[in-house]
Formats: sequence, C-alpha cells, structure tokens
Amino acid sequence: MLTPFFLTAIGGVDDVTRMTDHPYQLSIVVPVYNESDMIEAFHRKVTEVMTAMALAYEIVFVDDGSSDDTVAKIEALAQQDAHISGVKFSRNFGKDMALLAGLSHARGEYMLMIDGDLQHPPDLIPDLWRHAQTADIVYTVRTEDRGVGLFKKYSSKLFYRLFSYLADATLEQGTTDFKIISRKVRDAITSMDERDLFLRGMFSWIGFTSTRVEFMPIARPQGGSKYNLRRLLNLSISGITSFSTVPIRLSLLLCAFSLCVAFLYSVYALYSKYILLQAVSGWTSLLILMSLFCSGIYIMLGIIGEYIAKIHIETKKRPRFIIDRVIKHD
Ligand code: UDP
Ligand code: MG
Repeated sequence: MLTPFFLTAIGGVDDVTRMTDHPYQLSIVVPVYNESDMIEAFHRKVTEVMTAMALAYEIVFVDDGSSDDTVAKIEALAQQDAHISGVKFSRNFGKDMALLAGLSHARGEYMLMIDGDLQHPPDLIPDLWRHAQTADIVYTVRTEDRGVGLFKKYSSKLFYRLFSYLADATLEQGTTDFKIISRKVRDAITSMDERDLFLRGMFSWIGFTSTRVEFMPIARPQGGSKYNLRRLLNLSISGITSFSTVPIRLSLLLCAFSLCVAFLYSVYALYSKYILLQAVSGWTSLLILMSLFCSGIYIMLGIIGEYIAKIHIETKKRPRFIIDRVIKHD
C-alpha cells in the first residue's frame, strides 16, 4: 500500500520527505550504483566503526537505479539492522542527485556523505566527527591518486585549476564528496533549486566554516569506477557552466580580436590596391581568414549553446530525481 508520504515522493517533490525531528546524531548517506559486491562489506565496516563510536546513527542508502541486485541487498540489510533505510531511484540520476536525495531524507544533526565502494575509508569517520564539533563542513582531500589512471589524474588536475580560475567558487585539488556537514549546511544545499547539480561547487559557494582533513584513498576492492570519459567530460562542462559566465564572455574578446585582424587586413588590402596598384591577389589569405573567423564563430555558438541548454533545463522545472520506493526496517 502506498502511503501519502510515498505518493508525494513519487510526484518528485524531492524534499517533502524531510522530517522536522532529528533523532540521530549522525546520518550516513551512501549513494550506490551497481555496488552489489561491496554493500555487505561496506555495511560491516561502517557498523564496526559506528558501534565503537557509540553515536546514535542511521545509514541512508540511495540506490541510483542499479541494474544488479543492490536494492535486494539493501532491503535484506534493512530487515536485519534498524539503522538502515534506503531510497530507490526509478533510474540512474547520477551520484550528485543520489547524495541530494539521501541528504533530504537524512534526519540526523550531522550528515556524513561516503562512497559505498569503501574507497572512502570508514576508519576516518571518528576523526571527521571530532572536527565536525568545531566546523560546519569537514571536507576531505585525497593526498594520493592511488589506483587512478594517468589520464584521470591529469584531467582532474586540469579541471580543478580551470574551475577555480573561471568560477565564483574555489575548489581545492583532490577535494572529494567524503564530508561531514551540519544540518544547516544540508538545509542550505537542499534549498538550492538547481536541476543541473554540481555539489562540490555548491559546497564551496555556500560558505560556512570548514575544516580540511587529508586521507589516502583505498584502491577499489571490487568492480571499477562508474565514471567513463564521457561522464567525466559532462561533469566538468556542467560544473564550469554552473558556476561561471566567463566562457560566454569570451565571445567579446574573440570579437575584439577578429575586428582588429579584419581592420589590419582591410588597411593592407586598400594599400595594395590604391598605392601599390596591384590587384588583390590570392585566395590563400582569404581562406585563412574565413576559416579562422568561422571557427571562432562556431566555438562561440557552442559555448552559447551550453548556456542556453542550461536555461532550457532549468525552465522546465522538472523534479530533480524520482523515487521509486522507500526502504525501511520493519
Ligand atoms: N555512484 C552513483 N551513481 C552513479 C555513479 C556512481 O550513485 O551514477 C556511486 C557509486 O556506487 C559509489 C560512488 O558513487 O558509491 C562513487 O562512484 P565511483 O566509485 O564509480 O567513482 P570514483 O571512485 O571513480 O570517483
Ligand atoms: Mg570509487
């Protein structure tokens, strides 16, 4: 039977499910996508750490449209362990949406975001918790890219640089989604009504006090990264265009440059025609100039297209994610 609460969730109103009470000290939000191999080991490890910490905690798994039996495993765990609840998306909406849904559902005073593949070491939770007592955001930075391919390493470096240079928020190289945030930070994040999310940028943009903790990522024990080149590229473009209008302003710069070149070339053409009395010769120069300007125009059209696509997405005001069902211990 569907409860009214469930019905509103299906309608896609993504934060109506938030409760006003906060019975837990820490809510652990875990986005999972085809993590069937990892989920039990993850649960064991986190339970071990949390039991030692003696905090009132909950674990909120968000299944991001897995095609394997991840959901069945979450359901089985929820039956065994009252700390566990879950949200199942109707399809894959991406990790940021999964985190957002988990944060909206979490009822703790503090929220921890952690990957479900054990690459974010649960052993670090006590340390993060300690820092959380004096800062609103405790974020982590990878000190080493172990198990990360050369391409991913350098492309990610380039992205962090470009983002911090262009955007009105800075991103430290190696910042991860492994964070503890206070309830008011969560409320600030969930109140940002954007459809095209770039959570890492949003955490930097909202402000509040923050503390930095370094950690060494663990090589993924099972399965591979869910991010291929196409997804990483999409994420980077979306991240930059969400936080910066510099690329769209490049058109002015390019325009000024092309006008200068065109002016110089015209002076030369007039000079050779009336002073040197030579017929204007050569397709070469013409072709070079044509192709140069045309490519400039195409680049700018592409960039403008990016922003228009963004406006298009935002104006549709679609729900940011759709929940298929909520999993609970009973
Ligand atoms: N993930 C997700 N939705 C996706 C891709 C990944 O919820 O579309 C989850 C995944 O199950 C894992 C976390 O996000 O818990 C990090 O993903 P992954 O390990 O693939 O990323 P990487 O470690 O390469 O950054
Ligand atoms: Mg991983």
